[in-house]
Amino acid sequence: MNAINQSGWKPEMGNAGETAPATFTGNKALMLEEALIFEIGTAATTGVDLADAPKVAARLGNLERHRDIGLPGLSEPETVRHYTRLSRQNYAIDLGFFPLGSCTMKHNPRLNEKVARMAGFADVHPLQPVETVQGALAVINELAMWLIQLTGMHGVAMTPKAGAHGELCGILCIKAALAARGDPRCVILVPESAHGTNPASAAFAGFSVENIPATSEGRVDLAALTARLGPDVAGVMITNPNTCGLFERDMKAISDAVHAAGGYVYCDGANFNAIVGRVRPGDLGIDAMHINLHKTFSTPHGGGGPGSGPVVLSEALSPYGPLPYTARNADGHYTLIEEETAQEYHPHSFGRMTAFHGQMGMFTRALSYIMSHGADGLRQVAEDAVLNANYILRSLEDVLEAPFAHSGPCMHEALFSDNGLADGFSTLDIAKGLIDEGYHPMTVYFPLVVHGAMLVEPTETESKATLDQFIGALRSVAERAKAGDPSLKSAPHHAPRRRLDETQAARKPVLVWREPEQLVAAE
Ligand SMILES: *Cc1c(COP(=O)(O)O)cnc(C)c1O
Repeated sequence: MNAINQSGWKPEMGNAGETAPATFTGNKALMLEEALIFEIGTAATTGVDLADAPKVAARLGNLERHRDIGLPGLSEPETVRHYTRLSRQNYAIDLGFFPLGSCTMKHNPRLNEKVARMAGFADVHPLQPVETVQGALAVINELAMWLIQLTGMHGVAMTPKAGAHGELCGILCIKAALAARGDPRCVILVPESAHGTNPASAAFAGFSVENIPATSEGRVDLAALTARLGPDVAGVMITNPNTCGLFERDMKAISDAVHAAGGYVYCDGANFNAIVGRVRPGDLGIDAMHINLHKTFSTPHGGGGPGSGPVVLSEALSPYGPLPYTARNADGHYTLIEEETAQEYHPHSFGRMTAFHGQMGMFTRALSYIMSHGADGLRQVAEDAVLNANYILRSLEDVLEAPFAHSGPCMHEALFSDNGLADGFSTLDIAKGLIDEGYHPMTVYFPLVVHGAMLVEPTETESKATLDQFIGALRSVAERAKAGDPSLKSAPHHAPRRRLDETQAARKPVLVWREPEQLVAAE
């Protein structure tokens, strides 16, 4: 693979391997060294000139602050430069390919942003009178209709604010449905390959969680699952497509068996982007499934924005869904069903997930995304996401072990393991090597079912040229890891910082930089 990037740079143009003299500042041209804010400013200086605040009676009791907390006082230009410099060291989807598996880091169309910033949407307040927010409620309702249509389900709860929040909502619906029939079932079965949030959500709702093994194909072991079903099993939580990047082909058989045994089926639908427009989860017998609007239907997420996790519900679970929700009257007017009206319209609701109506900014973005793609465009999203992942899987399976390559085509993610690297070399070395190549690493060490997992999610918004360059880079780093190239063990070499002791960084984070004697003096 030729190392030609999109700017047309080639190795023979120089730079590579050249040792540059150190600079006086530590800066490397536009790669600027930036000190911690506590090293730049001191508590003694201030960037603003404000009169002392008038004394007021303390209402905080012993929470009242009695001493200065030593925040650095920077001037406005110093502050602006500090944060702008730091922001330039961030990696972002607008800068480059972001193959973080499970996270669906795809391009966020600017049209969505434009729509979300329209004053009529951006400036609405959740406590405004309902007559003044009819347009906003129409957006929520229209999006709800699309989600129901795309999933073939009966109802949808729009308020959950992230995927994991949606899981909790679905599990609480199951809990309410069981309580309504006086059924004390308390076990939720979760396969080994589940996303970590699944067992956490079930445990948080008070269920005990039991593992179901995966087959050598990377799918749920149907025989093991059906063998475990019984009168104590409240339900299962299955991620489909699963975290090995595979479609759970037995989903309908699983649902039928769970229903026959009196349980409910929760599907983690965070990976809906791989099947949207192709598969309707309702046809697979699913009772509840969250959709990550921020993944499947774009919108900036992670460090860059909020999430939204609407939950589609089967006919059996819809009566237990949360309040409030939007309803369209016969006259075309929208109302909100809240506690006051619930007794009449929605008496079995388990309660509330949020104070208000969900993430309005996400709803507008997701609806803009859905309507600009249309039904055919959404189907193509799934097809292209799957095509791109299979291109990566097949282009690299000769150099990296792909543990489930024999299980048929993957869905939207390609999964590799660290099997076959030189002694002492691991997935971490490959991830660090990719940083030197200018990429955010893929998801590493997840899913747990694969040793040294590397989960690559290319998404549908990347061009073949981008994929080819990434494949070239990953191939080159993987070959170095297989050959035992010692320089890879200390990568990254070209990043602002060299390899950190990650255990130390996680266990002993230095959150405030102050000399110990300053701390003592401040006491
Ligand atoms: C992202 C993801 C989640 C969690 O979603 P959040 O919005 O981060 O809470 C759950 N399951 C799977 C499979 C995911 O990819």
